[in-house]
Amino acid sequence: MLRLMAITAHPDDEAGNFGGCLRLYHERGVETCVVCLTAGTAASHRGSAKSDAELAAMRRREFAASCEILGVSRGVVLDYPDGQLHRIDLYRVVCDLTQRVREFRPHVLATFGAEGGVTGHTDHSMAGVFATLAFHWAGRNNRFSEQLSQETPPHRTQKLYYGTAKAGLPGRPPVTSPPATASIDVTGFVETKIAAFKAHTTQAPLWPIFEENVRKWMGRELFHLAASVDLAPSMQETDLFAGVREEG
Ligand SMILES: [Zn+2]
Repeated sequence: MLRLMAITAHPDDEAGNFGGCLRLYHERGVETCVVCLTAGTAASHRGSAKSDAELAAMRRREFAASCEILGVSRGVVLDYPDGQLHRIDLYRVVCDLTQRVREFRPHVLATFGAEGGVTGHTDHSMAGVFATLAFHWAGRNNRFSEQLSQETPPHRTQKLYYGTAKAGLPGRPPVTSPPATASIDVTGFVETKIAAFKAHTTQAPLWPIFEENVRKWMGRELFHLAASVDLAPSMQETDLFAGVREEG
């Protein structure tokens, strides 16, 4: 069975950035996993939450509901500090993510580029940096070797993608995005993606702008191929699993 892992920063990133592909590949029989680094307690939109702990609990439930809509097989929200991912110990987070990559053994890993995706959020940047190191280090037997055993050998993920966009968001500072090398047709899953985003009820004030943007993007999710075990991949892909070998 083929496996796709997405590493994100906040509950709602899975729907907003990768929702179309998560559902598309689920429909194609791919096992999917989302690892979200924070519970999103620094959000400006807090629903009825009276404390960070209450908001964290609400956002974890919303994340689970979104994952259900997207057909995500395994959804995890970790407990790193929202808004502070650039200030925490890199080695510790990469160790954690490397372990998760070695356990789930994805064929394809999707995350943000260091620019921080379309919003340029520092947490998105850091999620991408951590995930990129975990992608590379999970495959090496001299990195976090204490994690390795017969059941958990090094795992070389075949492709690493950064979600990207053709244009920034209006009213936001510009971001310099990685070029799109893959354009995935998720036309059939636009409504599902919007529904998954709307599972995040604490973020209701963001729904209209999100929906407007998703409809503007015409059913496409764009990616940049950042690393690949195949040194000569096609530079204009329409499938994140193009060229991937199942046994990997
Ligand atoms: Zn986010």
